[in-house]
Amino acid sequence: MNYKIVNIHSSGNRSILIIYTGGTFGMVQDESGALIPFNFGRVVERVPVLKNLGIKLTVISFPIPIDSSNIGIQDWKNMAYIIEENYAQYDGFVILHGTDTMAYSSSVLSYMLKGLNKPVILTGAQIPIGSLRSDARENLIGALEVASTEQKGIPRISEVCLYFNYKLLKGNRVQKLRSSTFAAFESENYPALAEVGIEIKFNDSVLKKYDPEANLKVLAALDPNVSLLKLFPGIPKHLVFAVLSDSKTKGVVLETFGSGNTMKFEWFINALKAATEQGKYILNVSQCVGGEVQQGKYETSRMLNEIGILSGNNITTEAAITKMMLVLGTQTNKDKIRSILASPIAGEMD
Ligand code: ASP
Repeated sequence: MNYKIVNIHSSGNRSILIIYTGGTFGMVQDESGALIPFNFGRVVERVPVLKNLGIKLTVISFPIPIDSSNIGIQDWKNMAYIIEENYAQYDGFVILHGTDTMAYSSSVLSYMLKGLNKPVILTGAQIPIGSLRSDARENLIGALEVASTEQKGIPRISEVCLYFNYKLLKGNRVQKLRSSTFAAFESENYPALAEVGIEIKFNDSVLKKYDPEANLKVLAALDPNVSLLKLFPGIPKHLVFAVLSDSKTKGVVLETFGSGNTMKFEWFINALKAATEQGKYILNVSQCVGGEVQQGKYETSRMLNEIGILSGNNITTEAAITKMMLVLGTQTNKDKIRSILASPIAGEMD
């Protein structure tokens, strides 16, 4: 890929690479009034303070910045490869990304960047940087400050996170919950890693521990043959059958009610059973934002254990879909795949 590199004439002890992928952060209006992404060179003009943060900054921009609704597997690989290629030269990485799919990207990167020992912080904005009341400047500066924080030469953060509206959240626990307030993201099932006010308050007990022995290894094999089936009362049989019997689909994230409950109609249970018997992996994830799946708590979830449905416990849908892509792309042993799907690999579930 033909990346554009923008050097910001800044200096300091810590060095951060900003990866600009697009998103509202740097958008402008086209002739019709719709928002489209523009090049990062002009973003720097909007935030002159970047030169005086005391951090050495470089920006690598996607050749064509994108709205994150267009993000795909190749883009995730590109982000991971940029980090891998530049890993030794920088103390941390800030990814500027659209908010719509940022939680998917932060989840998948937490799995792909195995052995990560430096901060990778995704951020973006709800209002473009050129607008008067934009949140872009605050989000970028906050993310850069967090990414550059160290203690005795050791980075305070050594994992993939998402920084937004003064909160640092664990990358594979976060969800976009609101589209029209600045507080767009929450991680309902995991405490904030840090809160940024007058001071930055890190919540040390929930941060990933820095591992001096860890070496970065990018896991780039992602299998796209996964599906998402969200249940609703009255769901038609043909829809359930279409998803569960699709011949290419290898794994299905099943979004269930409450603490992991489904309808117990015979046709439905038989369809799930047939899918697991065909070798498909089905991971039970709750539609609720907070709480967890407890298969067997109610009669309406007890049979799921018997037919081989895996419990996703308190994983988010974003973290579940992307985990399935990675596990199916990197593993072949059936028992191993089942056990990895049902247990945490990067702190994405309890
Ligand atoms: N559609 C935009 C995107 O995700 C929204 C945003 O950045 O807030 O790229």
